[in-house]
Amino acid sequence: MQKRLTLLGSTGSIGDSTLDVVARHPQRFSVYALTAHRNGEKLVEQCLRFTPEVAVVGDADTAAQVERKLREAGSKTVVTYGPQALVEVSKSDGCDTVVAAIVGAAGLAPTLAAAKAGKQILLANKEALVMSGDIFIDAVCDSGAVLLPLDSEHNAVFQCFPRENAQRDGVTKIILTASGGPFRTREPSTLVNVTPDEACKHPNWSMGRKISVDSATMMNKGLEVIEAHYLFDLPGERIDVLIHPQSVIHSMVSYADGSVLAQLGNPDMRTPIAHALAYPERVDSGVAQLDLAQIATLTFEKPDYERFPCLALAMQALSAGGVASTALNAANEVAVEAFLNRRIGFMAIAQTVDAVLNALENRTASSLEVVLEADAAARRAAHTIIDSLPVPA
Ligand code: NAD
Ligand code: MG
Repeated sequence: MQKRLTLLGSTGSIGDSTLDVVARHPQRFSVYALTAHRNGEKLVEQCLRFTPEVAVVGDADTAAQVERKLREAGSKTVVTYGPQALVEVSKSDGCDTVVAAIVGAAGLAPTLAAAKAGKQILLANKEALVMSGDIFIDAVCDSGAVLLPLDSEHNAVFQCFPRENAQRDGVTKIILTASGGPFRTREPSTLVNVTPDEACKHPNWSMGRKISVDSATMMNKGLEVIEAHYLFDLPGERIDVLIHPQSVIHSMVSYADGSVLAQLGNPDMRTPIAHALAYPERVDSGVAQLDLAQIATLTFEKPDYERFPCLALAMQALSAGGVASTALNAANEVAVEAFLNRRIGFMAIAQTVDAVLNALENRTASSLEVVLEADAAARRAAHTIIDSLPVPA
């Protein structure tokens, strides 16, 4: 049976990689909906190639431009816009699978709608899970939705994790690998002066700018520890982070008998995407086979929490529980945007997140409303802190 996809965030890095895999298997996958925020031109190209029924953009002006170009080209794709339109295409009967590849909290509402509608969800948008935690997982369990991780580490863990619940007792821990990003060996005193372009120059992966900055601060790995906690139901103490600069081992699972299972591959997101799209089958992803003799050396080291305070902050937020992870994620999104706009320096990202976590009172994440309030409060607090910080030279 052909899978019908809604691809949230189709114009991004994960969106590109997903469509690359989809195009290799036209008999297996077809596209019901594509969504973009402001990049109407790219969305038009994608619509002409993949002929979705619906295309969604962020605002009325972009929708009008996209609509005009599609009609000129003879396309029948219906164009809609705004947050509610994202929710509609995620829960629609027109699709059975939703690829969640919007960046940040904007992806929560449509991804949660897909969970409530019992879809198969291929999750890249880790921020949505980090901010809503148990509420998201409960929605998946209640509706019988299927959640498959696209994040390379979590996809690797999923591949190495026991399938049967009864065998889970044998798992001792998850080991998430991390490249260490572009500043793993840079002199710490020079980090205050790094530019957005330097922070976005990841050594192994080509990704959107927000996650690239998160990789440079290692907040990305912190968010991934929280993501792993919710996906695999293990406490933070049983989720380790291991620096592995080559990004060949994408993560590991340790077992009580001393076995460690790892998933390896070239660092290319099309591998986890193809794995999740075709699951439980295996299909060509376009990624070259791994050549370990040529790579020759794999190395490992412990993470340096002083160099990467964001990693420590995320682990603290996970152990604090409640809405601390929601606040961490919200403060980080605001701080990363301020850094990308050259409003604050690189080290001020961690400073802002730390200050927000200290300023806000933690609460139990008892409902979606409480979570959204915590998200909004953390954003306001982050803006206030950023307003008090100097503009970098
Ligand atoms: P990106 O910036 O390249 O793309 C983001 C997509 O989201 C775009 O299509 C954009 O139009 C859309 N978008 C942005 N803001 C939006 C809004 N307010 N409303 C609706 N749509 C909006 O980002 P990316 O690198 O593709 O990452 C997407 C998600 O996947 C992130 O959560 C990231 O953490 C996760 N992820 C990415 C990678 C990677 O290799 N790129 C790996 C693992 C996880
Ligand atoms: Mg990852």
